[in-house]
Amino acid sequence: MSHDYYIRNLLNIKDQNITFDENGINNVKIKGKTCKVINAHLSYTPSYCDKCGILFESNDDFEKKGFDKGSFIVIPSICKMNSYIFLKKQRFLCHHCHSSFICKSNLVNYGCFISNPTKLSIVVDLTKKRSEKDIALDNNVSPNTVERIIDSYYDGQKLYKHYLPKVLSFDEFKSVKSTKGKMSFHLCDGITGKTIDIVEDRKFNSLFKYFSYYTHKARNNVKFIVIDMYSPYIKLIKALFPNAKIIIDKFHLTELISRSLNKTRIKIMKNDKKNYNKLKRYWKLILKSREELDCSHWKKFKCFNRLMTEVDVVDYLVDTNTVLKNTYQIYQDLLYSFRYNNFTVLKTSLKHNYGLVSEYMITSFKTINKYLKYIKNTLKYKYHNGFVEGNNNFIKVIKRIAFGFRNFSRFKARIMICKGLISPKTKKA
Ligand SMILES: [Zn+2]
Repeated sequence: MSHDYYIRNLLNIKDQNITFDENGINNVKIKGKTCKVINAHLSYTPSYCDKCGILFESNDDFEKKGFDKGSFIVIPSICKMNSYIFLKKQRFLCHHCHSSFICKSNLVNYGCFISNPTKLSIVVDLTKKRSEKDIALDNNVSPNTVERIIDSYYDGQKLYKHYLPKVLSFDEFKSVKSTKGKMSFHLCDGITGKTIDIVEDRKFNSLFKYFSYYTHKARNNVKFIVIDMYSPYIKLIKALFPNAKIIIDKFHLTELISRSLNKTRIKIMKNDKKNYNKLKRYWKLILKSREELDCSHWKKFKCFNRLMTEVDVVDYLVDTNTVLKNTYQIYQDLLYSFRYNNFTVLKTSLKHNYGLVSEYMITSFKTINKYLKYIKNTLKYKYHNGFVEGNNNFIKVIKRIAFGFRNFSRFKARIMICKGLISPKTKKA
């Protein structure tokens, strides 16, 4: 077997028109780094002219005009060393149009110095949680090249507008600085939790425009939409999704009331020097559902000098202030109704007179009353946005490893690539 065979096999080069020079592997210093350089020539008998397109019928139709001066083509690294093929390409002269043209190869696109295997390797790296800078460094290309490859992905992506799943989930995440709004919109399948698409901002007009692209049939297919308490969503759903029932996400509901209780506790804590430490330390116990509190194990709590159970601690804390006690009672009732999907309990709690409660809880009450119709659906149907937190963490990771994206489309493309939602395209990049 010839050296040519071995090198071709090792580098996994498919193009048979590339021949490797004997003793052609050298270590060369390029940009201060020792690199592997493999010398090769590209030549074949052309079947047509690249310039005028005429088919060559005999060898008299063209003339070989030697090789070009050669160029360094970046290939995937060998033994962790940046590697290049120094490729000299055959030149031809067409006897019909008297212009010259040069050999082409599938190893590298015309006018490009980065081999297609390297581009493919970048595409594979992009699907992992790695920063673009690292990917560029590992593949011996500039960060701009990596960005161009991401952009080439994005250009190829088209919205499939004929289908939407039965359950949709609307969510948002904090976006990059360049976007119009602070929040970007995240559309998921409400059952599988898979991302369907990402929209730059979540304002009514942009979303209306976005969903209008989908066909009537696709929108009519949607039966449930899980949202958080953001009123433009409701307006949007009423306008575009005639068959969809609105469900307020349970996680957001729980968060709403626990935030109110927590704010109440902090306000009271600041005015109570005696119990400040206790109220500060055991905030988690106050937010816990009453049923989850331990009432049988007596132990020592740091701010108390006697043995107590968790229930005792919470009772002591809420007894320090009437407003806190009443607010705590409402909180527990609402939490119970959410947990056991009991709408009757929810309705009774909303009407019940608890006495003096904190202004924060009153605001939450008003919000719940405003969305009561949809909260009924929350308790009736099992759909929720529970997976969203995972999705948002994922997005945060992508944002962090990239040290912040400035460009929204690139940010979106990267999310979609990592999630495997847009397929590789190794066109000109
Ligand atoms: Zn020609």
